[in-house]
Amino acid sequence: MNSPQEQISSNLDRVQRRLSRALRDAGRPEDACQLIAVSKSQPTERIRAALQAGHRLFGENRVQEAELHWADLRGKYANLRLHLIGGLQTNKVRHAVALFNVIETLDRARLARALRRELDKQERSLEIFIQVNTGEEPQKGGVVPGELEALLDLAREELALPVTGLMCIPPFEEPAAPHFALLAKLARRHGLTELSMGMTSDFEDAARLGATYVRVGTGVFGPRDQNRPGAA
Ligand SMILES: *Cc1c(COP(=O)(O)O)cnc(C)c1O
Repeated sequence: MNSPQEQISSNLDRVQRRLSRALRDAGRPEDACQLIAVSKSQPTERIRAALQAGHRLFGENRVQEAELHWADLRGKYANLRLHLIGGLQTNKVRHAVALFNVIETLDRARLARALRRELDKQERSLEIFIQVNTGEEPQKGGVVPGELEALLDLAREELALPVTGLMCIPPFEEPAAPHFALLAKLARRHGLTELSMGMTSDFEDAARLGATYVRVGTGVFGPRDQNRPGAA
């Protein structure tokens, strides 16, 4: 395979085909789960290649890098959709609300309040997912399952935030499927329809277990540049 254009176009086709097959296996409709191409730490050339291949749904884990990637491109593609999939600091909420269509990483009360204020100020409509730390790892973002209900009460009831789904990043060294199943169960219990789970190594499991979004980076774009921010 030769140009980045051909490479990325064929990667997108292949991932999409695998996703469709996993959905079919699980008896889910083919449009039940969308592919988020995770463009963090990727050169703009590869992002343009994905756009040229017709892809319009992207994920970024850092607000500043996302602005670098998307500030210029955003105006050129009306149906572009951007998901924030990395932790959000309250001092970046203004920029995040201005740029993203979905913020997947709400995980604390203070951030919920900051989002409410900023949504009112900017009069933007977007969707919010709550990140759940299903493995209860101390270094990882997300609410632990036992605290989900309290955060949901605050965000959805008290602040009337548009919370529509849950997101998780399972522990690296464990099988992911039980974490996906837990996230799906929590979403059902709380009447949330969107589930963002699954990455390059496990997106088919996630699709079988109810994901409505899978987040695939290296499987679409190839290896990330380790010197760029957010490469981990
Ligand atoms: C980087 C990242 C991904 C994509 O990871 P790959 O293994 O490259 O597919 C998905 N989700 C989150 C939250 C990420 O930070």
